[in-house]
Amino acid sequence: MIDLHTHSYFSDGSESPSAVVELAKKAGLSAIALTDHDRLDGLGEARVRASELGITLVPGCELSCVWKFSSREKEVSCHMLIYFVEMGTEPLSSELLRLQNDRDTRNERLIGKLNELGFEISLEEVSLIAKGQGIGRPHFAQALVNHGYVEGIQDAFDQILGSSGIAYIPKARLTPLDAINLANASGGIAVVAHPLILVDSVKDLIEPLKELRSFGLVGLESYYGRYTKSERQALVSLARDLDLVPSGGSDYHGSYKPDLNVGTGLGDLLVPDQVLEELAGRRVGA
Ligand code: AMP
Ligand code: ZN
Ligand code: FE
Ligand code: FE
Repeated sequence: MIDLHTHSYFSDGSESPSAVVELAKKAGLSAIALTDHDRLDGLGEARVRASELGITLVPGCELSCVWKFSSREKEVSCHMLIYFVEMGTEPLSSELLRLQNDRDTRNERLIGKLNELGFEISLEEVSLIAKGQGIGRPHFAQALVNHGYVEGIQDAFDQILGSSGIAYIPKARLTPLDAINLANASGGIAVVAHPLILVDSVKDLIEPLKELRSFGLVGLESYYGRYTKSERQALVSLARDLDLVPSGGSDYHGSYKPDLNVGTGLGDLLVPDQVLEELAGRRVGA
C-alpha cells in the first residue's frame, strides 16, 4: 500500500515532512510521495526520515493549472502532480521560483483586499500560521477562523477566499501542456490530480484525457482520498482503457483537511504498490 499525494508545512499541510513520513510508516505504507504545492524544498527532510524508517520516498510536487480544452468554452482548473523530480533540477526549479514569487505577490494583494473589506488580519500572522514558507489560502482561512470572522476553513473558502468568494484573487497558473513539458524536460512524469475537478462525471473525462495524453500525460489519479469506491473503480477502468497509469493518494493536509488520513484517505483508500512501479517505468529512458 502506498500514498502518492501528500502536503507538509512547506506548502499548506499542517505537519512537517518528517511527521508525514512517520504517519506513512504507522499506516504500514511501503512508499510515500511528498507533493507540496509549487515547491521541492521539503523533500530533503522527508528523504532522511524515510530512509531511517525504511520506506520509499517518491519526490514530487503539485502544480495548479488552468485549461480550456478543445470542446469547452470555459476554463477549468486542473492540478498536475509531478514525480521523480529533485531540488535544483532544471527547467522545473526556475519555473517553481517564478510561481513562488507570484504567490508572494498574490498574498500581499489578498491581505490588502481582506483589510479593505474590514477583516483585520496581517500577513505576519498568516505567515506564523504557515510556519514561514509556502503561504496559501488555507492559512488565510485559518487566520479568518482564529478571528471569528467565519466558523471554519470551508466557510472561509465558500464566502471569502474561494473562486466565488468576495476576496478571490487568483495566482499565476500554468497550462497542463506547460506542466507536462516541464515534468518531462526535468526527468519526471506528470499525473493529473483529482480529475473530477475538470468535469462533473467520469465519462466526460474521456476527451480531455485523450488531449492530455497527446501532450505526454502518464497517469490519472484514480484512487483519490475523497472519491467514492465506485468513482475510484470507474477511474481505474478509464485509465486502463486510455493506457494511463491509475495512480492515487490521499491529498493529506493535516489539520487543514482533518478528515483525510495518510494512506487510507477517508478510511478505505488503498493504492496498490504496483502503480509506483508502472509510473517509474514510464519515465523517459526508464
Ligand atoms: P492557493 O494555492 O494558495 O491558491 O490555495 C490552494 C489550496 O486551497 C489547495 O490546497 C486547496 O485544497 C485549497 N482550496 C482551494 N479552493 C478551495 C475550496 N473551495 N474549498 C476548500 N479548499 C480549497
Ligand atoms: Zn494544498
Ligand atoms: Fe490539488
Ligand atoms: Fe494536493
